[in-house]
Amino acid sequence: MGPAMTIPEALDRRAAAAPEALALDDVSYAELRAGALRVAAQLRRRGIADGERLALYAENSRAFVYAYLGGLYAGAIVVPTNVLYREADLARVIDDSDARAVAVSQQSRTVAAATLTRELLDLDELRGWAADSNLPLALPANPRPEDLAILIYTSGTTGRAKGAMLTHGNLAAIAEQVTTAWHWTSRDVLLLTLPLFHVHGLGAGLNGTLFSGARVLLRERFDAVEVAATLAKGEASMFFGVPTMYVRLLENAGAVPFEHVRLFVSGSAALPASVHEAFARRFGASILERYGSTEFGFALTNRYRGPRYAGTVGFPFPGVEVALRAPEDGSPVPSNVGEILVSGPNVCAGYWRNDEATAAAFIVDAGGKRWYRSGDLGWFDPERGYTIAGRIKELIISGGFNIYPLEVEDELLRLPGVRACAVVGKPDAARGEIPVAFIESGPELDEQMLLEVLRARLASFKVPKEIHRIDALPRNAMGKVDKPRLRAALSATGRTDGPQG
Ligand code: AMP
Repeated sequence: MGPAMTIPEALDRRAAAAPEALALDDVSYAELRAGALRVAAQLRRRGIADGERLALYAENSRAFVYAYLGGLYAGAIVVPTNVLYREADLARVIDDSDARAVAVSQQSRTVAAATLTRELLDLDELRGWAADSNLPLALPANPRPEDLAILIYTSGTTGRAKGAMLTHGNLAAIAEQVTTAWHWTSRDVLLLTLPLFHVHGLGAGLNGTLFSGARVLLRERFDAVEVAATLAKGEASMFFGVPTMYVRLLENAGAVPFEHVRLFVSGSAALPASVHEAFARRFGASILERYGSTEFGFALTNRYRGPRYAGTVGFPFPGVEVALRAPEDGSPVPSNVGEILVSGPNVCAGYWRNDEATAAAFIVDAGGKRWYRSGDLGWFDPERGYTIAGRIKELIISGGFNIYPLEVEDELLRLPGVRACAVVGKPDAARGEIPVAFIESGPELDEQMLLEVLRARLASFKVPKEIHRIDALPRNAMGKVDKPRLRAALSATGRTDGPQG
């Protein structure tokens, strides 16, 4: 029997093969499947099936998982929506996806009720359906691999909403890739604190678990002290996080050994080399970094066996192809740096009802192969694999020289007193742009010393020309720094200071 073609099929197989094995906290595979099928039957009764959209606007919970799986079993298209969204963003996503219903928690209901005129489904009630053995089980819709499974809206804050259309085949391919590359087995226990509305938590964390017959310990949110305690007790064999979580673990976890954890994964933003190194020193664990995106799940991963190099994201997942192209015209790059293109069964079908955005993001090469243009710059080294240099839009060009912000940020983070930082370009009459650093700092930060060290380590044009201390960098739900906001703050300052009218 080959690998499962859809996530419901994977769950069916696991529930048949090992019904008593634990899947989600203390819920077994058989219980999880039965609960999801009961939810599917109730969704169908309400017309939420067969390609209708079911939005999920809630924090992580068991009911979220039942709603997601119930939606898939019913043949609906599930729309996991960032729970940190407030009125405008939420309305944008729900209207664009034209959701038939929105599943909400007690916490998220208020915003949803104030914003939306759509049907709201209470996750508490839905959880009751899952547990009620008097309710009928749905006959699974048995979706085909090419049918749409989920829409995930990309985190961009400007322009039209872009819902990446991931098919059932995409989700199965992503789950197969991560479980193969990272050697998951049914004995694994994953501690998952990442949000399920994002592809890292959902596509790798939850779907990977169901695909491999493993168990997931699901948390509503990340709490460094709780995570450190759970890992130290040996209750989990894997932990997936974003870079800020590893920074928080370093700040909060003392020197407890995490010897039971076989795999720490970081992604969604660059893991600073200094954090990778500090984590290895303190906890004796080499974090595996991967590179991914909503549109294709995951493309690159550090080796599971063999050396992992700080600051790199390694090699393509099995079945995934990655190429580098000059960003402007798609021709091969003369130097080693280019835009990262991704092709494979994991790459999404395009953007929901948005042909313009789809046409801009996908290209078909002379051989007929379809590639996704990631908008990220990177380079390749045969031993270390790929290194991500940052978003094309964030590249700073100063006096004709390219500055990759990640390189400067990595150096800054090595300096005492720098807790977090972001380097962005500021418009400059003479040089086009100049690099400017925003730094979250402790009192021990000495700006003069910092600049001296940077001048010794970096080419002079890369050294930030302004340093702004900031209490907290603006971040999105995945912990990614909101650089457009920082740039806007700089140009707003410029406008105020500059000539008026
Ligand atoms: P999202 O669609 O929200 O997951 O964002 C995807 C983007 O996150 C990518 O296009 C990259 O810019 C960034 N990203 C993801 N993983 C990494 C990584 N390991 N290193 C650097 N950037 C990353």
